[in-house]
Amino acid sequence: MKRPLELYIHIPFCARKCLYCDFLSQTASEMVCHGYVEQLLEEIKRQSEYYREYNVVTVFIGGGTPSILKAEDIQAVMNTVNGNFRLERNAEVTIEANPGTVNQEKLEAYLDCGINRISLGLQSADDEELKTLGRIHTFDDFLKTYQRVRVAGFKNVNVDLMSALPGQTLNSWKATLRKVTMMKPEHISAYSLMIEEGTPFYDRYHDHPELLPSEDEEREIYYAAKAFLREQGYERYEISNYARPGYECRHNIGYWTGVEYLGLGLGASSYIQNFRFSNTADLDAYRKINMNGDDADWHLHQNITELSEQDLMEEFMILGLRMSRGVSGSEFLARFGLNMWNVYGKVLRKLQENRLIEVESPYVRLTDFGVDISNYVLSEFMFDK
Ligand code: SF4
Repeated sequence: MKRPLELYIHIPFCARKCLYCDFLSQTASEMVCHGYVEQLLEEIKRQSEYYREYNVVTVFIGGGTPSILKAEDIQAVMNTVNGNFRLERNAEVTIEANPGTVNQEKLEAYLDCGINRISLGLQSADDEELKTLGRIHTFDDFLKTYQRVRVAGFKNVNVDLMSALPGQTLNSWKATLRKVTMMKPEHISAYSLMIEEGTPFYDRYHDHPELLPSEDEEREIYYAAKAFLREQGYERYEISNYARPGYECRHNIGYWTGVEYLGLGLGASSYIQNFRFSNTADLDAYRKINMNGDDADWHLHQNITELSEQDLMEEFMILGLRMSRGVSGSEFLARFGLNMWNVYGKVLRKLQENRLIEVESPYVRLTDFGVDISNYVLSEFMFDK
C-alpha cells in the first residue's frame, strides 16, 4: 500500500504587508510572481521523482496570498502536481485567498483544476479592526468575495478569524462571530494575535501590552467563541479550529497526527521519514537553483534534522493533545511499540490530578482548564524541559 503524503505549496507574495505579519511573504511585480511559478513547477517535477511510493492525500496552497497569482499560474501549479504526483481521488485540495483578490474567472479556474476547498482570510468583521491590522480589505469586500465563492460552486469554505486584537472588545468579537456564522462557512479558524518581532506591531505593542486585551479578556473571548460556535453547529476539534461535522481540515489533522508532508516553494518545511527540513527562504537563491542539476537538493534544502524516537514521541503528545479528541494510547503503542503510560505515566498522572487532562481510555485529552494553560501542559511532555 502506498504511504500517505501531504503537499504544502508556498506562494510568498501579498498585495501589501499586514502590520502584524511575520510570514514569509512580500510584495512583487507580476513578472517576479510569474518567474517564481515557473521555478516552482520545476521544483514540483524534480521532487515528485522521490515520492513515487506515496499517495498524495491533501494539497494546501498557502502563503502569502496565493489568490493574487493569475488564474493560469495556479492552474499550471495544479496541473504539474496532478501530472507528476499520484493524487488520491478524493484528495482535499485547499487554496488560501484574501477578500478582494479573486474574481469569477479565478474561482472557476480553481475548481477546474481540482481545488475543492477555499480558505478566506477575513480576521475580523469590524472595519476599524481590519484597518488597525493593515488588511487590504473591508468586511464588505469579504461579503462580495464570499458570495462569488459560493456562486462559483465551492462547497467547503474556511474563514480565518483573529482574536485578541488591539481595540477588540468581547462585543466586537461576538459581532464578528455572528456576522461570519450567518454566512454558514463549513470551517472557522480563530487564532489569537501574536506579536512577532520585526513587525510594526512589535514596535507598537511589545512595550505596551496594556493596549491589547488582557489575558483574562482573551480567555473570555476564547470561551465566547467556543460556546457561540457550538450553538451554531461548529465543534471545536482543535484548540483554534472549528468545523461542521465532516468538514474538519484533513490537511491540518495530518500535521497533528504525524502524516509525512512535503513543502514546495520558498521556505516551505517538510517532514519525511523522520527528517525535518526546509527550503531556502532566500527568493533570489531559490530562483537561481538549477532544478535539473545534480546539486539542486543541496541548494534547496536547509536545516535538515533527523528526529529521534524521543522527539517523535514528544511531537505525538504535543501535537495530538491540541486536538479535542486527544491522543490515543493504542495509536501510541502501534507507532512506537511502547505503552504510553509507561513512557509518560508520571506526567499524565500529575496532570490528571490537577484536572488539566482527562482520560477516556484509550484517549487522553486536555480539559477546559488544560486548554487555558495549554502552553504549560504541553511543555510537560518534553523530555529535556
Ligand atoms: S495577507 Fe497574510 S501573509 Fe500576506 S501580509 Fe497579510 S497576514 Fe501576511
